[in-house]
Amino acid sequence: MSNLLHLSPGDFIDFLKKEEIQRFHFVYDESARKLISSHSALQPIAEQILANKRDFDAHEGLFFQVTHEYPTLQGAFVHRTNRGQAAGGTRFWPYATVGSFLEDGLRLARGMTYKNALAGLWWGGGKGIIVRNPQHDHFDPAVRQSLFREYGEFMSALRGCYVTAEDVGTNTDDIDQIFKKTRFTTCISPALGGSGNPSVPTALGVVRGMEAALHFLGEGTLAGKTIAVQGVGNVGQPLIQYLFESGVGKVIATDISERNVESCKKRFAGKPLEARTVAKDDHSILNTACDILAPCATGAILNPTTIPGIRAKVICGAANNQLEDGERDDRALFDHGIIYVPDFLVNRMGIVNCANEQYGYIANDPLKNQHLNKDWDKSIYQMTVHVLSLAKEKGLTPGASAQKVAAELSRENHPILGHRGQQIIDSLVADHWYEQ
Ligand code: NAD
Repeated sequence: MSNLLHLSPGDFIDFLKKEEIQRFHFVYDESARKLISSHSALQPIAEQILANKRDFDAHEGLFFQVTHEYPTLQGAFVHRTNRGQAAGGTRFWPYATVGSFLEDGLRLARGMTYKNALAGLWWGGGKGIIVRNPQHDHFDPAVRQSLFREYGEFMSALRGCYVTAEDVGTNTDDIDQIFKKTRFTTCISPALGGSGNPSVPTALGVVRGMEAALHFLGEGTLAGKTIAVQGVGNVGQPLIQYLFESGVGKVIATDISERNVESCKKRFAGKPLEARTVAKDDHSILNTACDILAPCATGAILNPTTIPGIRAKVICGAANNQLEDGERDDRALFDHGIIYVPDFLVNRMGIVNCANEQYGYIANDPLKNQHLNKDWDKSIYQMTVHVLSLAKEKGLTPGASAQKVAAELSRENHPILGHRGQQIIDSLVADHWYEQ
């Protein structure tokens, strides 16, 4: 049975069919410290998840279904709901094994708990994953419509313990399909009352993180500084705009897209910008002598290969999961004397922008803007200063310090609803949701 985690998602779907299982769950019993499966045939998986000390962190509930029309595995990973419903996007991504799918979901869900708690949002943390089935054309609109509508039905069946959003591999059209079947989603299109593209506020959030790190180091403001930016896409370009508005001395930027580099050069003509197109595996921008390095492209670029060559004083960017290995690379940067501002601390505006969209929409929304001002105690600026100061005081890495602060905040109960997500999960188990 231990081989179940080694199965490909396709073979696992065949196994589930044989067992006549379409929906299933693993729910954590905190007092007994047990992870309990809805089906005895799947209990060995629960035991293995429980034994995975790196990725499993008392996640409250893990819920799954196999879709009917185009069989795929779909999951909702609920980490912690003290602060409110578990919130985080749904990823549409291929996985080689059931084990790698589960590990990714566990890790990403906990990351959302931390991001939401540090942002002071009254949301818990969770993540959705729809596993791409190589037998389907995932660009086919009919396939997508079917998969995302079935995901919406899944969300409704979960009664709101998890609220989904857009993530890697999904777009607003997909979310609109989910929205046809459930109210438990954010990031719907503006035409349906949603919040729209968060890239510009995300960029300003990164600037606030940079300003806080410079302040912490006693290095003054951004004026006159040299900034290296990897990736000049939706976040990278407005970031550069804000940097020039702050009076930086020079921006050095790379992108693998010639089109984006050219549009960037055109947009900032006459400004002190050096932008160049690079090959996909060319990370030479990380070796730039600069004050601040801003990764705004892909994840896992801070690793044992790249870290020794980094010459920045501070790393602060929008890219998700910049550290290839959270603990190892956070420590390596610390040992190199580089201040790494954790991505989940400064790129929160993506989730902030959509998190409260059901409460209505205001242009220049004060509820969102408070995250970007410097006074609010939960603003990006203040939380960055707090996390870096705590790290210094306790001799922690910034990543460990951010996690410590986030873990404490994530245990605070919602001021009105209490720990309602857990009550919803208990009701799902009692009512055998998976049979519906
Ligand atoms: P994007 O796709 O618009 O831009 C990313 C850019 O990086 C693209 O232009 C791409 O060509 C470039 N790129 C890819 N590999 C590269 C490489 N090796 N070297 C240089 N450039 C490379 O994405 P985005 O919306 O700007 O987001 C950037 C990052 O920030 C992503 O990791 C995203 O997950 C994260 N993020 C974005 C938001 C948001 O609001 N858009 C919010 C939170 C986190």
